[in-house]
Parts: sequence; C-alpha cells; structure tokens
Amino acid sequence: MSFFEAIDPVFESYVMGNAPVKQLATGFDWVEGPVWFGDAGCLLFSDIPNNRIMRWAPGSGVSTYRTPSNYANGHTRDREGRLISCEHGARRVTRTELDGSITVIADSYQGKRLNSPNDVVVKSDGTIWFSDPHYGIMTNYEGFKSEQELPCYVYKVNPTSGSIEAVATDFACPNGLTFSPDESKLYIADTGKMFDANAERHIRVFDVGIGGVLSGGAVFHTISPGCADGFRADSDGNIWSSAADGVHCINPSGVLLGKILTPELVSNVCFGGRAKHQLFITATTSVYTVVLNREGVQHP
Ligand code: MG
Repeated sequence: MSFFEAIDPVFESYVMGNAPVKQLATGFDWVEGPVWFGDAGCLLFSDIPNNRIMRWAPGSGVSTYRTPSNYANGHTRDREGRLISCEHGARRVTRTELDGSITVIADSYQGKRLNSPNDVVVKSDGTIWFSDPHYGIMTNYEGFKSEQELPCYVYKVNPTSGSIEAVATDFACPNGLTFSPDESKLYIADTGKMFDANAERHIRVFDVGIGGVLSGGAVFHTISPGCADGFRADSDGNIWSSAADGVHCINPSGVLLGKILTPELVSNVCFGGRAKHQLFITATTSVYTVVLNREGVQHP
C-alpha cells in the first residue's frame, strides 16, 4: 500500500516514495497539539480526554510531560522557545517559562471567561493568536461542561502589555490557524458548531495588514472528508491540513495537491526533525510521522 496519493503530479516531488508513515506511539484517546522542540529533541502533544501532555523522543519513546494538563489542546512555541498552550479545563492560554512556572496569557475578554482555547500561533512580533471555539465546554469529555459566556472568536494577545483583541468574529467555531511563511496571510479553519450536521468544514484566508489588522476572509479550501482541525505551512506556503483520511497538502491557491494517508482520522500536524522536514501527525489514538521533501515553517 502506498502511503501517499498524488492529485497533482507535483506532489510526487513533495514526498519520498520510499519513506514510510510510521506510528510512533498509540493507546491514547484523542491526541492533538503536536509541537516540536528541536533543542530538546522531543515532541510534545496533548492526550486531551486523559488530561495530560505527553512527550516523545527518538530512542526513549513516550513519557508523561504534564498531568493534569487542564485538558490542554493546541500548543506552539514563542520566539524565545517557550511553550504556549491552550487549556480547555482552565479556559485559558498559558506560557510555560523556562524554569517550568506557568504564566497566564489570556483567560477573559471584556470581563467574560473565554470558552475553551483550541489552537495557537505566535507571530514574529511576539503577539499570540488563538481560536476560542466552544468544544471544550459543551461536554465533560475534553474539559468541563459549563456555560458559554462569549461568542467563538479568534483573539490576538500582546503578551507584554496583556492587551487582548478580537480579530475574527464571524466564525461559527474557529479552530486551526497558521500564518503564511511571510506572515502576509493568516489561515483560519471553521469547523462549525458542535453537533451541527451541516457544520462548516473550510479554511478561510485573511490578509494581514499593518499592526496585524485582518481583511478579506474568503473561503480558501473546503476539506473533504473530515475537517481542518489543525494545519501548518511549509516554506513555500503549502498548507498541510488534517482530514479524515490523512493529511491534505493544499497549495497557496487553495488547490489540493495530494494526501498522506493514515489509518486514523487526523487532528493536527507540526513540522520538526533535524531539518524541519519531518511531519508529526496526531491522529485519534496515535501519533505518526513521515519524512517529506519539504521544509516546514517552524519557530524557533
Ligand atoms: Mg483544533
């Protein structure tokens, strides 16, 4: 069986035909939020329903990095290498300092509690951008069922001043997000309201103006099958997105070029490895990896 499906012939040059999609670890309930620590040589990822963040490293395998994790979901690193995390349970975004202490980046907007921060990216100016859908407070599976106080917005936080601004307010439920390599565009998924059979399943693209002001917002690509829970860009601006049948590679014009096929439904991806050419894939109960002939945008 092939691990890849080319839709456009160019995709053949993006993958190595003899590189396997390998399972690194399994036995989890719903994995999410992969983030690569090149300096530490390890991957962190969330096992959300089990309220823990796991660590995987070549040679030593899987261990528990943090539990309880406040039902953490998406992660990234800021430009100083610190872990930035979305926590469903505590309804906040945090930064883990280099000494291990935890700083709250955002937990409210206009005096109301956030819903359940889901995914996060950091811009080169240090601002932290995150989505705040309601998934983590609708049931007790991935957090604590509770009242929704705010609509489902995307926010930008200045971690120096603490100011928080709603930058995208017309989503049903924003989810994954990532900047283009030059940060001129921001891609944000809409995965729709929980339990909505007609839920949105597309990625929208915004122009990022001076001061981080967003404009545009047209539909960039509709994922099928599945949805764009999480995605990351490679250095040419291709988007590598979660889908139900694997990882879909979408070019900057919004055209599906090809797929990495996985045995389980994918939630998210990140680039890493020694040359930023290795894709780590969180997929339902397991984490997979594959080496690509691409380099990801990965900071630091
Ligand atoms: Mg997500």
